[in-house]
Amino acid sequence: MGHNTLVSQISPVMATYSRFPVTLVKGKGSYVWDDHGQQYLDFTSGIATCNLGHVPDCVKEKLAEQLENLWHCSNLYHIPNQEELAGLLTANSCGDQVFFCNSGAEANEAAIKLARCYASKVKGSNFPEIVTFKQSFHGRTLATLTATGQEKIQHGFSPLMPGFSYLPFNDNDALEMLQTIKPAAVLLELVQGEGGVIPADQKWVQALTRICQENDILLMVDEIQTGMGRTGTLFAYEQYNIKPDVISVAKGLGSGFPIGAIIAKQEVAKVFEPGSHGSTFGGNPLATAAGVATVSRMINSDILSDVQEMSVYLDCQLESLKAQFSAIKDIRGKGLLKGLVVETNALDIVKQAISHNLLVLTAGPNVVRILPPLTVTKSEIDEFAQKLEQAFQGIEKGE
Ligand SMILES: *Cc1c(COP(=O)(O)O)cnc(C)c1O
Repeated sequence: MGHNTLVSQISPVMATYSRFPVTLVKGKGSYVWDDHGQQYLDFTSGIATCNLGHVPDCVKEKLAEQLENLWHCSNLYHIPNQEELAGLLTANSCGDQVFFCNSGAEANEAAIKLARCYASKVKGSNFPEIVTFKQSFHGRTLATLTATGQEKIQHGFSPLMPGFSYLPFNDNDALEMLQTIKPAAVLLELVQGEGGVIPADQKWVQALTRICQENDILLMVDEIQTGMGRTGTLFAYEQYNIKPDVISVAKGLGSGFPIGAIIAKQEVAKVFEPGSHGSTFGGNPLATAAGVATVSRMINSDILSDVQEMSVYLDCQLESLKAQFSAIKDIRGKGLLKGLVVETNALDIVKQAISHNLLVLTAGPNVVRILPPLTVTKSEIDEFAQKLEQAFQGIEKGE
């Protein structure tokens, strides 16, 4: 009746995500509930973010306490939670100093700026290159989408940032090329997450690290998805026997409260002086309250060793599904970051899973990504396996 039907269908939110037809309103532990009261088993953890499960009491209490006192004051003043969180992160990593920001992309931006600043101040380089890897994912800002080794993410956003080159992941030729390029820094995911849940090969990472050391190339690991206990150690690099110069973290650091950070060795961190970098919200009292509670819980409980145990249990369940369904080609990943390589379209399986009240993710067109909270129990993994079995049966029946 005279209305523009097109206009009435337009969401006030930009269409940067194609959303599933589910509206989540509540979460606790491994479960979430929609606006109709339907319960779902959540094996996405808000994309590797709610690592302690939904609404963990330890974080809720710490946030509630901070909510009473001070929300924000800017970085022109000392922030006790920020200093405490930086202390926890440096005491439990090979880094010495921390810069706080609000997201993963911002953490990688800080890492990129730090690498360029280091190259210019320490090495006198005026065109420092940064090497990243094919299929990598480092974020959506202009510098981090340039760092991302996937054309589909860069397409339509030229001109890209100068100073990046891409080498093949887990590939020995890349090691040769690295010695030719002699970049200022390498930015690396130890398990490529968005790119398809592909763990870096142990020997390859060690050879790469040696080349970085011999050529004064900074080794920067993007632990935004792999960090915060996801792979069974606080950081994935611990399992590779390496000591990166810079570590970027975000996702799981605040249990769902937005926060990001880079942790760097002192000789690198020292090139940042007052005015070199900054963020209004970065490390604010609320965000770092969430961070302190999250990291404290992770290091003062059995969660990390539980992850390793649950990872083995989850692998058993996935192996028996693989034996049952020919559509499953491979199982890969580390800790509680798992990928099921499937012959079919992974998105169809994710949709089937939703209809069986199970939330899982994709990582590219043919990988189902499985990210339970690190607090997951064996009986929840059993329930997951049952629901995923139903989802695969649904696909076989052509539902
Ligand atoms: C999610 C992710 C990012 C980007 O984090 P945002 O908080 O979305 O900006 C960067 N790197 C990796 C490895 C990630 O998984």
